[in-house]
Amino acid sequence: HVKARGKDGYRFYSETMSIDSANRLNLERDLRLALERNELRVFYQPQVCSSDNRIVGLEALVRWQHPERGLLFPRDFLPLAEETRLIGQLSEQVLDQAFQDVGHWIRSGHGDLRLAVNLSPVQVEHPKFVETLMQRVQAHNFPAGNLEIEITENVIMNDLDQISQKLRELAALGVRIAIDDFGTGYSSLNYLHRLPIHTLKVDQSFVKGMRSGEDGACIVNAIVAMAHGLKLEIVAEGVETDQQLTYLRSLGCHQVQGFFYGPAEPAARIAVTLEQTLASVTPA
Ligand code: C2E
Ligand code: MG
Ligand code: MG
Ligand code: MG
Repeated sequence: HVKARGKDGYRFYSETMSIDSANRLNLERDLRLALERNELRVFYQPQVCSSDNRIVGLEALVRWQHPERGLLFPRDFLPLAEETRLIGQLSEQVLDQAFQDVGHWIRSGHGDLRLAVNLSPVQVEHPKFVETLMQRVQAHNFPAGNLEIEITENVIMNDLDQISQKLRELAALGVRIAIDDFGTGYSSLNYLHRLPIHTLKVDQSFVKGMRSGEDGACIVNAIVAMAHGLKLEIVAEGVETDQQLTYLRSLGCHQVQGFFYGPAEPAARIAVTLEQTLASVTPA
């Protein structure tokens, strides 16, 4: 109960605050309902081999089909999901959907198709993280070797020993580990040879800033060269133009992802694209 005290500025401020927290409460209530009513959708964005345009993987990206507000993106609800610990339940639904969709595609001719899933630091830091993830993998009979988890450098920075143990367990089961948004965190490079990392994802900010001869290009060049030296796979994110693609190819960046090839789309759309790629390699 904030008492209005003559000063308009003060009163205005307190009203703004209460609107924000009301919005927040609404969103939290809506998100709980969304989980009950299955309003979350998994979209998939192709990860493409830059030399032959083949789809090598799909990154699962969560969307929320809100009954009144339409299609919402992760930035609209993921921070709240993390704060309220609803992220565990949210992720469970995303993983179930993704294992089901991609598992089906893997069994129907796309045996090498990789599924990349994003995990929040709160999930990875949970003591039962490995157990919980592998239970879901097994429940869907999803081939562990086709799964890649994407984590950020910030996860690693928090507790290298703990994370190292968990990643080793997962890697031993065949799960691949990718570092998302590589180069934007605050961690040192020290972990790269101490952890079982398979893939570096060049952050889209570096790809955006890339013009031949300029700083952005030097950074991407250095990351790709380092990945080659460490025998890591590399995926460039946020590739939007033909020029970016051509330049990345010239650096030896073998995998790309971005609007140039297509945004994340619902499973039904991806299924059509995958069928076309099968048809094009199957003799008539
Ligand atoms: P991210 O994993 O780095 O994913 C890349 C983001 O860039 C996605 O945004 C994607 O739609 C967008 N993107 C892809 N290609 C392009 C492009 O060419 N240009 C531009 N401008 N953007 C492009 P989105 O789907 O909004 O996801 C944002 C972030 O939310 C993701 O970043 C990821 O960190 C997180 N996220 C998404 N789904 C999940 C999930 O299921 N669980 C968790 N824990 N995090 C998720
Ligand atoms: Mg990602
Ligand atoms: Mg990223
Ligand atoms: Mg990101």
